[in-house]
Amino acid sequence: MELKDVISMDLTELEKEVVLLGEKSYRAAQIYRWIHEKLCDGFDEMTNISESFRERCKETFSFPVLKAVERLESAIDGTCKFLFELSDKNVIESVLMKYHHGNSVCISSQAGCRMGCRFCASTLNGLTRNLAPSEMLEQVYRIQKISGQRVSNIVVMGTGEPLDNYDNLVKFIRMISSENGLNISQRNITVSTCGIPENISRLAEEGLGINLALSLHAPNDTDREVLMPVARQYKLKDVLSAMDKYYQKTKRRLTFEYSLVAGVNDSAAQAEQLAKLVFGKNCLVNLIPVNDVKERGFFRPNTEKIQKFKNILEKNRIHVTIRREMGADINAACGQLRKSYADKRKQQEVSQA
Ligand code: SAH
Repeated sequence: MELKDVISMDLTELEKEVVLLGEKSYRAAQIYRWIHEKLCDGFDEMTNISESFRERCKETFSFPVLKAVERLESAIDGTCKFLFELSDKNVIESVLMKYHHGNSVCISSQAGCRMGCRFCASTLNGLTRNLAPSEMLEQVYRIQKISGQRVSNIVVMGTGEPLDNYDNLVKFIRMISSENGLNISQRNITVSTCGIPENISRLAEEGLGINLALSLHAPNDTDREVLMPVARQYKLKDVLSAMDKYYQKTKRRLTFEYSLVAGVNDSAAQAEQLAKLVFGKNCLVNLIPVNDVKERGFFRPNTEKIQKFKNILEKNRIHVTIRREMGADINAACGQLRKSYADKRKQQEVSQA
């Protein structure tokens, strides 16, 4: 019989399970606290639960903690990158960034990704599978335990398209912000999406107060299609009206991410068009100088060009920031470490065969 993933269960689900096992339902709250507040490693640590019930639990539930297989720390800014192994041996990556206002963790939502953005390393081998709620939670739990530092912010900007793993994402957000868990404020959680209109609209109706960031990367459909194959399927008009709906429902300021690629989306005309596109919205445009992808001929524009792009937006009264680069010395950008680890492992397998 397949064991049920206990870390992915919310409190209501866990109560049902506990009662099915013939125990009082308050035991569920005790177990839940051990997992989601005290971040324990297994049932044996649950000292206020009888040994016999702990044994029953071990026969009924799996306890899929993540295993850190690699950890890199930046000598420049203390950013830490973690490579975690899942119970089926897939690997995912997460990043801990230390800011003055607190510690932020960037988590993955899928192993791989099927969106195919041309400049993104996460998508090169396609989608392997969705991550379970437990696997998203565990990235934060392990990092908090390993580093000994409290995590106050979460960005879902690692590998994967979070809105392509919708139900697990929403469950993860409810659990991590629950007062029975780490109680991380929803205002401190940001989800980044390539723009799937129907799921953005759905998210608007969930009653969550999280921040939403759209990977815009171009001011019109034609230019966007060059960088993002999903742009062929979802037109900007529909994506942006879903974003407007998200703002109306949540009143959370929108973020538009714009990865600048030399000669592709960094012209003055494109900056003007971008300004027009977002004018009047309560939003921030976050410019990300692209991490070079030599194989595809994508390079970041020079500093002068980036500044010029920013100035045009500012002249049009758009709030704009240039993303500060974190962990430049440890391959901290999306998917790079996971890919090099997977390539290395494949090579080892070939040489052992
Ligand atoms: N799938 C989600 C979240 C993952 S990527 C999304 O599309 O938003 C997080 C951000 O990093 C996205 O804006 C993505 O487009 C950007 N990104 C990916 N690879 C990059 C690279 N090589 N250089 C700069 N930004 C990159």
